[in-house]
Amino acid sequence: MTIDELWQKALGELELQISRPNFLTWLKNSRLVDSKEGDAIIALPNHFAKEWVEAKYGKIILGILRTEDSCIRKTTYIVDGAITRKPEPQREPEKIEKQLVFNELKSDPESGLNPKYNIKSFVVGSHNELAYAASMSIVDAVGQKYNPFFIYGGTGLGKTHLIQAIGNEIHLKHKGKYKVKYVSSEKFTNDVIWAIRNKRVDDIKQAYRNIDVLIVDDIQFIGGKEKTEEEFFHTFNALHENNKQIIISSDRPPRAIPILEDRLKSRFEGGMIVDISFPDYETRVAIIKVKLQERQENLEDEIVGVIAQKIQRNIRELEGILNKVVFHKTHHAHLFNSPYVEKLMEDIVQQTAQNLTPAQVIKAVAEFYEISMVEITGRGRKKEIVEPRQVAMFLLREMLNMSYPFIAEKMGKRDHTTAIYAYDKINHALNENPSFSQKMVMIKELVNKS
Ligand code: ADP
Ligand code: MG
Repeated sequence: MTIDELWQKALGELELQISRPNFLTWLKNSRLVDSKEGDAIIALPNHFAKEWVEAKYGKIILGILRTEDSCIRKTTYIVDGAITRKPEPQREPEKIEKQLVFNELKSDPESGLNPKYNIKSFVVGSHNELAYAASMSIVDAVGQKYNPFFIYGGTGLGKTHLIQAIGNEIHLKHKGKYKVKYVSSEKFTNDVIWAIRNKRVDDIKQAYRNIDVLIVDDIQFIGGKEKTEEEFFHTFNALHENNKQIIISSDRPPRAIPILEDRLKSRFEGGMIVDISFPDYETRVAIIKVKLQERQENLEDEIVGVIAQKIQRNIRELEGILNKVVFHKTHHAHLFNSPYVEKLMEDIVQQTAQNLTPAQVIKAVAEFYEISMVEITGRGRKKEIVEPRQVAMFLLREMLNMSYPFIAEKMGKRDHTTAIYAYDKINHALNENPSFSQKMVMIKELVNKS
């Protein structure tokens, strides 16, 4: 049986064991890349899919593969962006975005740093001032002060920007005295896998231990990958013992990374840990202004205010919206004013919700939490049901703009105050808890795919 045949068989079996939408969402674009020495390497098209499949279906998949081929002992999941996907229908605004991103700078292959992430373009507000201050001390006293330095926070809040800026700044300030290396944890994992396959582990050790400042982004993704964690642990120790600077980012604090080895968690906790939370209104305004300046564009304060008001939890999203607004300003100049922008923003937010029905939203949330439609809209009060139900109500409001009485009706003929309560509760949790907001990103992703 060839690798492809083996995977086709496994997929056939999986399709019977999990729900159809989940199968289509997560596994349709998967591939078995290799199976050597009992290790089956499974590739998925993106981080989300990889994390999800590994955590939720890892056991089932291993079981199925072993039944088909008794030599298989374990599985390794990797991301392969090149996996052919059906091209998504092009939406106009996405094309626009591409045109507008001029001056796109490239990462330096040696250090992995992208010069666009610099300190000058990083806006400091109350949500990141501690992280910023600690970063600046590190630039001044490399390896001597906060080591390791661990930054965590939700997606799109500036972690990558800040840790790369530290690297760039160290380069500048110390005129290349320190060898800086930035890697995503994905890249680190792939290096380790490659080295093991090609019996070149010593080369990798050598390469990583020659570094003065090691920056590893999104460390949560190495949790559970034994060989990679092991290699990272030794690299970490070797560098740390020699007072080399280690900088790490994650979407959550070390303790909350599931399946990360305890010895690594305690290493991280031995240094400085800071979080980045959500920027306040004034900071969002400041960030928009910096982004406009970078693009050599200009918007009236009133319009900047409208945008900052609307997009609150993700700076990456804020940038995307800004590109669209600037496009409209150029092409619909005669209509352009703040009510127009307000309407435009509504449209952009709604666009994602186009063709989406309440039932689809509820169903996707139920799918995510693996509970039934009857349970999610029912009367049960079990804790495992309450959160999904509140999330569904929140999304009906946020994505479909439905009225509270209507939401309450849809969610099992409840009183409208229940829907208001649910909305506030989830909104609060999103502001307070970065890992919850991460989860919300995944849920929305699933809703948008339904
Ligand atoms: P994360 O790594 O936390 O997901 P990123 O660092 O990739 O987020 O940030 C997303 C986008 O938002 C980037 O384009 C980044 O330049 C921008 N950004 C985030 N925080 C700031 C900030 N404080 N000042 C300026 N730009 C920011
Ligand atoms: Mg990042």
